[in-house]
Amino acid sequence: MKNYREFDVVILGGGLAGMYTAMNLDRELKIGMFIKDKIDKGSSNLAQGGIAAEIKFDEAKIKEHYEDTLRAGSNLNNKEAVEILVNEAGENIRNLVSMGVNFDKDQNGEFIKTLEGGHRSRRILHAGGDATGESVMRDLRESLKKYTNIDVFEDEMAIQIITDDNNKAIGLVCINNNNEPDYVFTNKIVIATGGCGGVYKNSTNEKFAVGDGIALAYRAGIKIENMEFVQFHPTGLYEPEKRGRVFLISEAVRGEGAILRNIEGQRFMDKYDKERMELAPRDVVSQAIKREMFDTWSDHVYLDIRHKTKDFLMHRFPTIYEKCMSIGVDMSKDLIPVTPIEHFLCGGIASDLCGHTSMEGVYAVGECANTGVHGANRLASNSLLECLVFGKRVADDINASKEELSKRTIKFPPVIGEPRKFNFKSIRVEIRDTMDKYVQIVRTEEGLNLAKKIIERHYKNLKKINVMSRYYFETLNMATVALIIIDAALSRNESIGCHCRLN
Ligand SMILES: Cc1cc2nc3c(=O)[nH]c(=O)nc-3n(C[C@H](O)[C@H](O)[C@H](O)COP(=O)(O)OP(=O)(O)OC[C@H]3O[C@@H](n4cnc5c(N)ncnc54)[C@H](O)[C@@H]3O)c2cc1C
Repeated sequence: MKNYREFDVVILGGGLAGMYTAMNLDRELKIGMFIKDKIDKGSSNLAQGGIAAEIKFDEAKIKEHYEDTLRAGSNLNNKEAVEILVNEAGENIRNLVSMGVNFDKDQNGEFIKTLEGGHRSRRILHAGGDATGESVMRDLRESLKKYTNIDVFEDEMAIQIITDDNNKAIGLVCINNNNEPDYVFTNKIVIATGGCGGVYKNSTNEKFAVGDGIALAYRAGIKIENMEFVQFHPTGLYEPEKRGRVFLISEAVRGEGAILRNIEGQRFMDKYDKERMELAPRDVVSQAIKREMFDTWSDHVYLDIRHKTKDFLMHRFPTIYEKCMSIGVDMSKDLIPVTPIEHFLCGGIASDLCGHTSMEGVYAVGECANTGVHGANRLASNSLLECLVFGKRVADDINASKEELSKRTIKFPPVIGEPRKFNFKSIRVEIRDTMDKYVQIVRTEEGLNLAKKIIERHYKNLKKINVMSRYYFETLNMATVALIIIDAALSRNESIGCHCRLN
């Protein structure tokens, strides 16, 4: 008999989506949180700018947030989901604060709010200046210690959903750091595995964020949607020859007045969006920068916030200020070199307004999910909000079915494969380079087909072998997610939001 663990609910991922869902579940439920890496890693911990939320009930302001979200998403959003997002923002922020999370406040104890691209009002709450994610997640982890019903397992990567004869999810296979399978049986699975920036050569995400949850769901036959909408952040810090995770210069820097200049020193956003200029949504600004880089034969542009004092910059953006200084750039005197970088996945595992996916017993929440709130392009600072609002809805849905959660089926799947020492590095490098070259901000049919040919060859070869190792599954997941993005990009001929097709 193999060893296994049992839980009422299993959460995959310890980012904001996974953590907040777990902490809103009924305390009588036995919860297992399985995390691929360490609990303090992942995009939620890296978030800088903040969380968009109208916290006081003001119908006009909430409507404005709704409209800004639709406008940024080119109206391809699920309007019902957006309504929920903006209307339930305030109560979830209050809930978060009651769980021990702190946001930056002024001398009168009022939340300080900032502005980012695509927002018409200052509605973005932040913490630790420009370290919102680090601060919020640290506070939440501190509170998590009081939840004796939640067991956390680090370095456990989920690789397969186990189903019963009716195709209902009954458990999971995870792989630990010794490349051994760990079996987990449960009634409800919540996939909260984050984005897929690690499929690209450069991204603001951690390298291990390769869309595992999406690939895992895809292998189980769960519906995936809107994968062509990969958002590129306009202002990743430009460091020549850098591979892997790129440091982000938050949109809040433009919110505080920074302007963009090309390498010849000219401000250029008036050519692309006269009304909103540097504070246009990310798809518009990234595509504008790409065009300027093309026209000036260069691989970066500049951000200019030299009109602000050193003192202001050091206090408002302590993390960014320090990082810039570490490469010899003093924001108060120098231009900051920046370039657009893969940042966020707008699509993902199709999920309804309570997080249900197309498979019974499986929910999806956070960046890996496609609730439809982002449409063709995410509005800045709406993703942490999505983790909260839909995480709470998933928890409420599970809590309502609490009574059913005691019955469990234990059925082991066939053994997957033997552990081998292969590291598949050359395949990972080629996938990342191919995505970087052909599945970028601007795409062509020829480039997408070329990318498909290269990655499909790797995918087919990987499928032929059967290896029980983290490297194997991570590489297979990368190829899977890359192909889903490419197929989605090929099937949408129009340019809309962050999907820009030249032909
Ligand atoms: C640099 C940066 C700055 C950002 N700034 C902002 C901002 O200011 N405001 C905003 O709204 N959004 C921001 N975002 C986006 C936002 O941070 C993310 O969309 C959000 O945090 C996603 O949360 P999540 O819980 O879905 O995923 P994550 O926080 O990425 O967590 C994913 C979790 O899943 C785990 N995992 C992955 N695969 C597996 C597996 N196979 N098995 C088990 N566990 C797995 C990971 O280990 C991790 O714990 C930023 C993102 C980045 C990268």
